[in-house]
Amino acid sequence: MFKNHPRGLVVLFFTEMWERFGYYLLLGIFTLYMIDTQAGGLGLSLASAADIYGTYLALVYLAPFVGGLLADRILGYRRAIIIGGLLMGTGYITLALPGMTAFWIALFLIIIGNGFFKPNISTLVGNLYTDDKYKPLKDTGYNIFYMGINIGSFICNFVAAYLRNHYGWGYAFAAAGIGLYIGVIIFIFGKKHVALADVRKPVQKEDMSLGKIGAVVFLPALLVGAIGWFLPGNLFGSDSTDAFLFSSIPIVLFYLSLWLRASKEDKAPIGALLAIFAVVVVFWGIFHQNGSALTIWAESYTHRELPAAVQPAAQAFGMVQEVDTTPREVPRLDVYGKPVIDADNHVVTTMGPHPYFNNLDKAQWPVEGKSLKLISTEIFQSVNPFFVVALTPLVVVFFGFLRKKGKEPSTPVKIGSGLFITAISTLVMIAAVFASQNGLTKCSPWWLISSYALITVGELFLSPMGLSLVSKLSPPRITALMMGGWFLATSIGNKLSGILSSLWEQYDHKAIFFSINFAGALLATLAILVMLKWLKKVVKEHTEGH
Ligand code: GLN
Repeated sequence: MFKNHPRGLVVLFFTEMWERFGYYLLLGIFTLYMIDTQAGGLGLSLASAADIYGTYLALVYLAPFVGGLLADRILGYRRAIIIGGLLMGTGYITLALPGMTAFWIALFLIIIGNGFFKPNISTLVGNLYTDDKYKPLKDTGYNIFYMGINIGSFICNFVAAYLRNHYGWGYAFAAAGIGLYIGVIIFIFGKKHVALADVRKPVQKEDMSLGKIGAVVFLPALLVGAIGWFLPGNLFGSDSTDAFLFSSIPIVLFYLSLWLRASKEDKAPIGALLAIFAVVVVFWGIFHQNGSALTIWAESYTHRELPAAVQPAAQAFGMVQEVDTTPREVPRLDVYGKPVIDADNHVVTTMGPHPYFNNLDKAQWPVEGKSLKLISTEIFQSVNPFFVVALTPLVVVFFGFLRKKGKEPSTPVKIGSGLFITAISTLVMIAAVFASQNGLTKCSPWWLISSYALITVGELFLSPMGLSLVSKLSPPRITALMMGGWFLATSIGNKLSGILSSLWEQYDHKAIFFSINFAGALLATLAILVMLKWLKKVVKEHTEGH
């Protein structure tokens, strides 16, 4: 797989694999942990959990703006990656400690750590391919790197399930921390292989100084963020959403000013990147509902009973959650089947069978004293990375085949197609809602799995391509900053995913919920179509020979 590629790719592949192991281990169980009332979780309401999830995901990807900038100008990429990895590792371990203070500190450490780590490792990948010998392999390089990401995110959920089912949530979080430390050790040992890629470019006269960026971007971002938070009432549903959306305005304006002030030669490529960033916001807004709305779908609306044949193996690996009908403290439901929430936003509990039985046909209940063996919910989070790893070679071969015939679509066309396929994936979820009679009964897991398969194809057409495009189009001296822009788009999209997911309980008919996703994906596809001619021209002019 790594044949013909620079040696450094192997180092970055395994470093990022372990980092993503930790990152996705937390994400897979984050919502479950926050709403859990059965096994020492936080017992928060679904709306609060979705809000925290969306804000966390948004900030985790907002921080790369700062991390990219600091690496471009001061730290260098390697140092930033090591600092970021250590901060994140410590963050995950802190999450294993009890209490809400530890919880907030932990999230803060992870957010800052990711800011130092993520944009810079993604930039280093591209920088490995500046040599003429390697240039044509850049897209494939990013595809391989993306597989590393997803191998980490595939494995982590099995480890999470084993640890949290056997020992409790804290052990699972600690495992994420250990993953990060392994990643940092691999990186330190292999960092000489990426030395060549760690080159900082001289600042140009049109570039703002760090001090000025602080004064005109960070400070205003903090100020308007605070205004958003303290504003009486909410404009966009919650204080955190208002604060986030307000504070992203100066940052978005900063990227626009980069474009406005760019030299004649840089203007078109920066403009094209910003246009693509704006559109992919919608993709991440839908995609990242995997950890919230779709996790709830897997947890409560999907049959998770394991076929008898695989039970022993699943049990041996700790993937099994046993549920029975013995009365215990469970969320109290109102007449519409929604959990009742108290004034502190916690779920009110009552005595009853395990919540899994809420919408399970009585005929399928186990007899008194017996339990049902279910696959742990977070295992569904491995479906997407599984498809990434399985489908990447097909996608690479498919485009390679088209390239040979001179018919490979341009990157903007790939991105537009990715969005269209995403729209189709949301249709599958609408069908699932009808199959489950809108959640009155549970439906087959294959609906969710098929929807994930489709959105993964969309992701492969869009996400590694996006990284590669940033690396190709961006003026070299601001590559990490533009990478920060890509992640800023992810960040706003992630916040959107939280906002959308918190609507879950508002729509009694879940088909409406998924239709909003469908409409969004379709609109984004249309937006790409409208800009296609221009985008193709810019990409062609600026990637020739790259
Ligand atoms: N799964 C990819 C990663 O973790 C993309 C995630 C994202 O950019 N939102 O790198």
